Amino acid sequence: MNVLLIYPEFPDTFWSFKHALKFIHKKSSAPPLGLLTIAASLPADWTPRLIDLNQRALTAKDLAWADYAFISGMTVQRQSAHAAAERCREAGVKVVAGGALFTIEQAQFEDVVDHFVLNEGELTLPMFLDDLAHDRAQHVYTTTAYADIHATPTPRWDLVDFKHYATVHIQYSRGCPFNCDFCNVTALLGHRPRTKTSQQIIAELDGIYRLGWRGPVFFVDDNLIGNQRTLRTDLLPALIEWRKDKVGIVFNTEASINLADDEELMQQMVRAGFNTVFVGIETPDEDSLAECSKKQNLKRDLVADVKRMQRAGLEVQAGFIVGFDSDTASIFQRQIDFIQKSGIVTAMVGLLQAPPGTQLYERLKREGRLLVDRISGDNVDGTTNIIPHMNLEALHAGYRSILEYIYAPRYYYQRCKTFLREYKPSPIQVPLDFQYIMAFFRTIVRLGIIGKERLQYWNLLFWTLFNRPRLFPQAVTLAIYGYHFRLVYERHVQKDGG
Ligand code: SF4
Repeated sequence: MNVLLIYPEFPDTFWSFKHALKFIHKKSSAPPLGLLTIAASLPADWTPRLIDLNQRALTAKDLAWADYAFISGMTVQRQSAHAAAERCREAGVKVVAGGALFTIEQAQFEDVVDHFVLNEGELTLPMFLDDLAHDRAQHVYTTTAYADIHATPTPRWDLVDFKHYATVHIQYSRGCPFNCDFCNVTALLGHRPRTKTSQQIIAELDGIYRLGWRGPVFFVDDNLIGNQRTLRTDLLPALIEWRKDKVGIVFNTEASINLADDEELMQQMVRAGFNTVFVGIETPDEDSLAECSKKQNLKRDLVADVKRMQRAGLEVQAGFIVGFDSDTASIFQRQIDFIQKSGIVTAMVGLLQAPPGTQLYERLKREGRLLVDRISGDNVDGTTNIIPHMNLEALHAGYRSILEYIYAPRYYYQRCKTFLREYKPSPIQVPLDFQYIMAFFRTIVRLGIIGKERLQYWNLLFWTLFNRPRLFPQAVTLAIYGYHFRLVYERHVQKDGG
């Protein structure tokens, strides 16, 4: 059986890093972990072929070769997913769809999908494959159970041409013990964090290392520290040991703010090779934090927490939200002040949205405050599917004012310095390769000569050379990110009127 594994295209969003990827001549951020894991679960006599639409187009030749097309993706990829499924259908290739997008929005794809294999693939895919083998495949496979990910196979990294990618994703755990009301992670994956074993993770890392990958590896766990006991006693010691004879691999991940309370855990993570952590800060407003049940962020000095992580050797990236019922007109300036003061360079600010399946969605539905029953999936496009308490125009204007400020070269670069002053460089660095050197020269032209940030760019580079020379590569990377964030903001939020 010939199977296309189709990964839909990402639009030009904050996390696509499209404008940043051009500097390193890459087309896409990361290979599709879900599809590669599915590939590893297919019968041995099937032949899978990965088609990442972020890399190349789906051709008539691909379609003529295939018996089935497996498509998976996230909400933000819905348009490309629908178009790809439609093309397969028209070409007579049966479409099998799974993953978060299809699990949440099955109804929108009824016209183009033959078989939905939803929720956790470890449970539903074997049911589908068994039925298919017996000629009785159903239209929908779903489950409310959570898979034991100890049995999840090593993704088929051999299907990937790593040279096209900037990073590689792997997953250690699923689920999160917290209860933020806007978050659909717990609705999809549950509250009890389930982890793989360190042996599984080491096998995955060995696989990508053997295939030649050198560079960042992103642990896509929604909260890596959800199960601290196994993290401390199993995964981190194994990673520390693994990297002893390896070069060129660094890790980043997502974690809750309580990581800042644990100096030992942070040090262990840094020794294991982690250098960046994304944290859901959401808002400096205590009432809004209480409103969305983000209890872990309450009654803390959040700026001090961020600085503690930076001093431990972890760059903090963070998500922020405006549009909570408790928000007043002062929230916009407070968010700006917080972001600038904390030195969170990669600050993703979005309007509050209510993803289907969340507690927030159910509450606003009851209150008649849902505009549409789905979200855009792009956290910074200035859209929302809810009717906020605050006047919508005022909310949009305030939202735009935050983005305009934090991505403006003057303030963005100021924030870079705030961060670089505080940050203790990790002892584990990726050696600078030819691509990086070329990226640096490209920044000289694009940012240092023709860019509107040229003054701030040179100022940052010279300041870093004199004050934090070890962090020079990081300063260049942050300059590239700033360019990407500003373009995304200018092209989407400002143009569309937010
Ligand atoms: S901590 Fe993060 S992953 Fe966990 S429930 Fe809150 S938003 Fe979701």
